[in-house]
Amino acid sequence: MEYTLSRNMSGMKPSIIREILKQMSDPSLISFAGGNPAPESFPEKEIAAASARLLAQDPAGMLQYSVTEGVPAVLEQVRRFANRHELRVRGQDALLLCTGSQQVLDLATKCLCNEGDTIAVEEPAFLGAYNTFRSYGAKLAGVPMEEDGVSLAALEAVFAAPEKPRFFYCIPNFQNPTGKTMSLAKRRGVLALARKYGVPVLEDDPYGELRFAGAPVPSIKSLDEGNSVIYAASFSKILCPGMRLAFCACDKKLAGSMVVAKQGSDVHTNVWAQRVCAELLRTMDMDAHIRAVSAMYGRKAALMARLLREKCPQLTFEAPQGGMFLWAELPQAVRVPEFVQACLEHRLAVIPGSAFYVDGEAPCQGVRLNFSTPSEEAIRRGTDIMAQVLKRLLGQSVCSV
Ligand code: PMP
Repeated sequence: MEYTLSRNMSGMKPSIIREILKQMSDPSLISFAGGNPAPESFPEKEIAAASARLLAQDPAGMLQYSVTEGVPAVLEQVRRFANRHELRVRGQDALLLCTGSQQVLDLATKCLCNEGDTIAVEEPAFLGAYNTFRSYGAKLAGVPMEEDGVSLAALEAVFAAPEKPRFFYCIPNFQNPTGKTMSLAKRRGVLALARKYGVPVLEDDPYGELRFAGAPVPSIKSLDEGNSVIYAASFSKILCPGMRLAFCACDKKLAGSMVVAKQGSDVHTNVWAQRVCAELLRTMDMDAHIRAVSAMYGRKAALMARLLREKCPQLTFEAPQGGMFLWAELPQAVRVPEFVQACLEHRLAVIPGSAFYVDGEAPCQGVRLNFSTPSEEAIRRGTDIMAQVLKRLLGQSVCSV
């Protein structure tokens, strides 16, 4: 039988990312390409003990259906956790437990966006978010990033356009892919623009807890005394992503619609995972755990930054202060696709920055390097490969001039 693919597929071309992902299962490949947390960060013993304890104490409570918003006792634990350092869930907010923050992005789009509507997005930004927005037929209006976060002038121009965006998507902390953090002044600026133009902010914050240098910056949500911000945070990077647990704090009316949408999607978030998570929040010293994970990422990031400075002085980058990614710009003389391909031939995977742009073919000299998953040895070997490839490509380009 011949399958006729949908129009959605017609614009999609095999990309270098697909080529990389195909090779990911090869153990000889060093990967700076993924976005996974380090497996050694998972509190596996605590998870096993909490799961066994709860199943023995309350099997029905672990295994039965539950309410869509989240198990009430779990919501209470999550609220306390979310608000332990700043107010992210206010009295007027609804709190919703979701199947990863990916589901928050999906439900918010489903509830707010009609086909053909515009969504303003930081550019570059998380490809998984762009794909979710596109799956609802949204048009993406990219807003360029500056050193201290999104360009406010460009954001205002997009907000003021005749086709006002349905919301603005941003990742203010240790952005994926650039690793950048939005300054406090810009956060206030984004909020002021959101209020002025009546455009909600979808604040995606999976990395904010993973700070290993510098001082924390308040979330946009905590600055908002109204209901302009839809806030998403995840347990994926601080406990484990396999749990698929995240939370959303937002306007109650919008949350009501998201609950209805969630009923049609997965009824509720996995109760087992919710209960185990709440037990971990109750029994573990979460701040100590997060400090330990962040410190490990800090060591890996510092090693990667030091080795890149020593071996690849042609690269331009800022040392990350948190999160999982380092964004490095290649010299103009090097073509990024060629660099990525040559690295792959030497068994190193890196992602070309253009993959994170609205137009995936946009000219971009950046590459995204993940430092959370590779071992220190892999970081050494991978940076050696980058140095060799750069030397070769720069040599070639000099010869061909
Ligand atoms: N937002 C961003 C910026 C991400 O990088 C990711 C995944 N790495 C997600 C959301 C989705 O994470 P999860 O669904 O596991 O919470």
